[in-house]
Amino acid sequence: MSNFGFNISNTRVISMDECNMGNVERLHLEVPSFKRCISCGACSATCSAHQFTDFNIRKLHNLYRRGQYAGLQEELKACMLCGKCTLVCPRGVNLRSMIINMRKILYEANKR
Ligand code: SF4
Ligand code: SF4
Repeated sequence: MSNFGFNISNTRVISMDECNMGNVERLHLEVPSFKRCISCGACSATCSAHQFTDFNIRKLHNLYRRGQYAGLQEELKACMLCGKCTLVCPRGVNLRSMIINMRKILYEANKR
């Protein structure tokens, strides 16, 4: 193969069949607005924690929705629960409640 000076990345495939979606359904029951997200990023742009760290609530939200929970419990600790993200969300997602419940569900899942 010719050397073009760069490599083509392997395709990143997420197999939803292999993801544990149980925690997603649990969160949906607790915070129904959770699934209204359109990933606009207004929450991250306004986030108090994001101003001082690389904490990114939109990214964590998307990972959770895909059932990719690795490291999430630790990363969610950076949220200060100030609620600014909830105020700016154009879809009415109750982010503050969503984060509290994500923490609770992940804590209980990791305890088992
Ligand atoms: S502001 Fe609301 S709709 Fe936009 S990414 Fe955040 S949760 Fe989703
Ligand atoms: S509640 Fe958490 S995620 Fe939302 S703006 Fe405040 S620190 Fe950021």
